[in-house]
Amino acid sequence: MTNCIFCKIISGEIPSVKIYEDEHVFAFMDIMPLSKGHTLLIPKTHRESVYDLTPDEAGNLFSVAPKIAAAIKETFNPEGLNLLNNNGAKAGQSVFHFHLHFIPRYGETDGFG
Ligand code: 5GP
Ligand code: ZN
Repeated sequence: MTNCIFCKIISGEIPSVKIYEDEHVFAFMDIMPLSKGHTLLIPKTHRESVYDLTPDEAGNLFSVAPKIAAAIKETFNPEGLNLLNNNGAKAGQSVFHFHLHFIPRYGETDGFG
């Protein structure tokens, strides 16, 4: 999709700190991290939200989720890790290309929730 920030990140038109990439998915650091190591995982095909994912596309995302989680754990050593996905503006979605948040948690020092 031409006017999508995350499609531009996948193509390299907008720079990002890449964590992981394969044929189907792309993972990168969130530009405004809620905590140290906040990472986003997205499908390479533009899909607006969870309603638009095929079962195969959902499978491709969740099959790499353990790998992303392990890399975050190894690098940042958080005490916990939230996986989160917002669908629709009412739910807090601000970028309309499906993304799964990986939000490391550091006990009482991470400042939220
Ligand atoms: P949402 O609110 O849609 O669930 O999450 C969108 C996320 O994308 C936010 O956490 C925001 O910081 C992140 N984001 C928005 N624009 C950019 C960008 O250009 N680069 C990166 N790396 N993250 C972005
Ligand atoms: Zn897109």
